[in-house]
Amino acid sequence: MNRPAIPVRADLELMEGYHSPQVDVSVRLNTNESPFPPPAAWLDALRSELAGVPFHRYPDRRATALRRAIAHDHGVRPEQVFCANGSNEALQCLLLAFGGTDRTVATFEPTYALHTHIARLTGTPTVAGERNHDFTLDLGEVERVVAETRPAITFLCSPNNPTGLCETPSTVRSVLDLAPGLVVVDEAYGQFAAWSAMDILDASDRLVVVRTFSKTWSMAAARLGYLVASEPVVTSLESVALPYHLDSVKQLAGRLALQFKPEMHARVSMLKEERSRLFAALGDLDVETWPSEANFILFRPLRREAGEVWQRLLEHSVLVRDCSRWPRLAGCLRVTVGTQEENSAFLVALRKCLS
Ligand SMILES: *Cc1c(COP(=O)(O)O)cnc(C)c1O
Repeated sequence: MNRPAIPVRADLELMEGYHSPQVDVSVRLNTNESPFPPPAAWLDALRSELAGVPFHRYPDRRATALRRAIAHDHGVRPEQVFCANGSNEALQCLLLAFGGTDRTVATFEPTYALHTHIARLTGTPTVAGERNHDFTLDLGEVERVVAETRPAITFLCSPNNPTGLCETPSTVRSVLDLAPGLVVVDEAYGQFAAWSAMDILDASDRLVVVRTFSKTWSMAAARLGYLVASEPVVTSLESVALPYHLDSVKQLAGRLALQFKPEMHARVSMLKEERSRLFAALGDLDVETWPSEANFILFRPLRREAGEVWQRLLEHSVLVRDCSRWPRLAGCLRVTVGTQEENSAFLVALRKCLS
């Protein structure tokens, strides 16, 4: 491979980016996107409002209208909302503001790989705690890790990617009691779950809840995410975000999307029904599964090598996520819940691959 004229930062040298292969297949179930496009009426509204965008001017730096709309949706003040180019950028801003070489971040593995990845990009050391064998959080381990490392940020992910498990309100409260710094709950799949940490924002000014328009809102292409936190936390994030980082079209797209909340919930309900069907069907196959409150299911072929199953699914034009070489996930694959047709195609292909 070609090397740049100047070596990259020494602490990044061995890092690989976080990439899921974008292969041209007919059934794409590898990145937890929504299989449904956003409502046609949303696109119409966006088109007509685009005409009024003053493209020669910088966007509203404070994203006033978008933040007001999101705040209204969650029953919080606009000053508690920070918007970003995808929730990944919200996470990056958190790490820029509250991480750093002299701070530590705690994660409980396996969880969303980007938490550690973005921490490293910002030069923040991470400490990985372990989960129980069934992937549930072990509060004893949380206590041990936060007592030893006093992390500036403790990451939770609920529902957890890639396991699908949700944390309970009492678990999140316990982590808030134990951890000294910010407790960030990544709720990229929040609307698929039975409860949200948004419900307990009042519990602490150290609680941060991160959401995205990429999954439940069917807007992965728009790159819009946000977090809700106490006002001083949001003010700190504004000081590390690049000026005018949120373009006018994105602000408009997000604000208009919130006018189609019932449509979003309808899509989420359909996917939850399909998730149940998929989960039941997997129960009849030679795989181990974990209960999921998200739009994906983690499973482990019991008598076949996972990499081989992944490859054979691909030959049937079905793409799932190969997690089998990720730490603590040996032999595991993750399938996104798609449309009824896509899920059926996946099941047919999987049956063949396992036989
Ligand atoms: C998909 C995902 C995100 C979304 O990132 P965006 O930058 O908003 O697209 C964030 N967190 C988790 C756990 C995810 O799975």
